[in-house]
Amino acid sequence: MIVSTFGFAGSPGSPCFVRVELRLERGILFRISGISNQAARAAATRIRSALMACGHRWPGKAITVNLAPADLSRTSTAFDLPIALAVLASSGIIPSSSLKHIAAAGEMGLDGTLRPWATSIFGFVETFSSELSDVQNIKTLLAPSKFDSSDSPLPLQLFTHLSEVIAYLKSPNKTKVKPHLIENSFNSIGNTSSFLEEVTFDIIKGEETAKRMAVIAAAGSHDVIMQGPPGTGKTVLAKCIHALLPDLSEKEFSQCKSIHSAAGLFLKSYRNRPPWLSPHTSTNMNGLIGSWSNLKGRGAIPGAWSLAHNGILFLDEFAEFSRGTLEACRAPLESKMISLARAAGSTTLPASALLIAAMNPCPCGRGNGDNASCDCQSNEIRRYRRKISGPIADRIAIHLELGHEINDSIENGTKNISWTEAKSAVARVKKWVDNNPGEEKFVNGPPLTEAAAELLNSCRSVLKLSHRGIYHVHDVAMTAALIDDSPLIEVKHIAEAGASRLFDRQSWMNPR
Ligand SMILES: [Zn+2]
Repeated sequence: MIVSTFGFAGSPGSPCFVRVELRLERGILFRISGISNQAARAAATRIRSALMACGHRWPGKAITVNLAPADLSRTSTAFDLPIALAVLASSGIIPSSSLKHIAAAGEMGLDGTLRPWATSIFGFVETFSSELSDVQNIKTLLAPSKFDSSDSPLPLQLFTHLSEVIAYLKSPNKTKVKPHLIENSFNSIGNTSSFLEEVTFDIIKGEETAKRMAVIAAAGSHDVIMQGPPGTGKTVLAKCIHALLPDLSEKEFSQCKSIHSAAGLFLKSYRNRPPWLSPHTSTNMNGLIGSWSNLKGRGAIPGAWSLAHNGILFLDEFAEFSRGTLEACRAPLESKMISLARAAGSTTLPASALLIAAMNPCPCGRGNGDNASCDCQSNEIRRYRRKISGPIADRIAIHLELGHEINDSIENGTKNISWTEAKSAVARVKKWVDNNPGEEKFVNGPPLTEAAAELLNSCRSVLKLSHRGIYHVHDVAMTAALIDDSPLIEVKHIAEAGASRLFDRQSWMNPR
């Protein structure tokens, strides 16, 4: 199938029209007729990245673009936009009929923003426009908003972002959608979506302990690892934790936006919601931690940990990530920062994301060895669980087990919390925790009762917890007490925090 549309260069006041024809074929090459491979590659890079920033995939095919008439000199970047529109029409994202009576021009940034184009060199300005027989059918010009739009011969529509052009061409009566509305409906790149439908606890049956720990995790920004057979609601629970987080302040949100733009991404958002990143298990260390760009002067490219800054990094099938990638999580878990070093110097990226890791109890996923339907050998289970090394588990504050009714019988002494209560408790406690960072919360927060201090101490010997483990139990118990609005950290708070150190238990690492 051939899709065709018009591009223009020159100025909207005296546009010089060029027909853009695009064909998808089998293969992978991207060619623009009459343009050097290097310039075509540069255009392909911009267009591909801009499409991804709007949530659309690059077609997995060879693309041939022809610009007509064939004898014009075409070193302009103005054709980024019409080529991108032709790609979108060829993949069915916008109707091809919407391209019939328009001509578009604009250079695109990697994040999809439209800019005026670099100088174009045209030989025979008047002649080539007239050579195109159907040029008369053009009714509207689409151009970047920063362009001087005085004395345009045709009605002009100005846009700042590719997504606005897409929304405009998709709307049946070609109405312009206000930019801020569009920003809300962005589909961010592949799996870095920060736009989630809000879920609540109502979807999860039972699992009161897990729900309570979800509230504590959201309020105290405690990292979580959960294990349970498939279908026990691990992903839903992770989404609940995201939904419990309050909206970000303008300052926090603009931090997130600048991190995204450093990665060449556009952060879509719904009322300044915290980012939600759920990279696939095939993501390598660079994708998770970040890397240095090979391009001169581009600096560091943030990875998923930094893109999830101020939000949630959800690593599903945690044990399926490569061991090196998992171990690379130690530093951001510890310091919520990422240092990237290289010969020419080093840089630090913010990575204050709440990690939620989820995994099955065993390779088959059906049980933890005591379940009749699980046929995993105990050494297989052991090997699978040991993918999560001691140092990683040690750095995660809350270990949860889902799909075990027995867990719900742990007496936490509190009534089941409603969603509205949970949201307001999280907002209240999170604000307090943010105002009392680091060690300050242990100075200003509720103190331990004598019995609670004793129990915390005995965790060291009974549960064989490390210093870090003890710190987490104290920290989580403190958040639990704050949620309950309790003036003291009581025994029940230490007990529930201690119960959430599953991966430290002998029975976990040595099943059966
Ligand atoms: Zn199994």
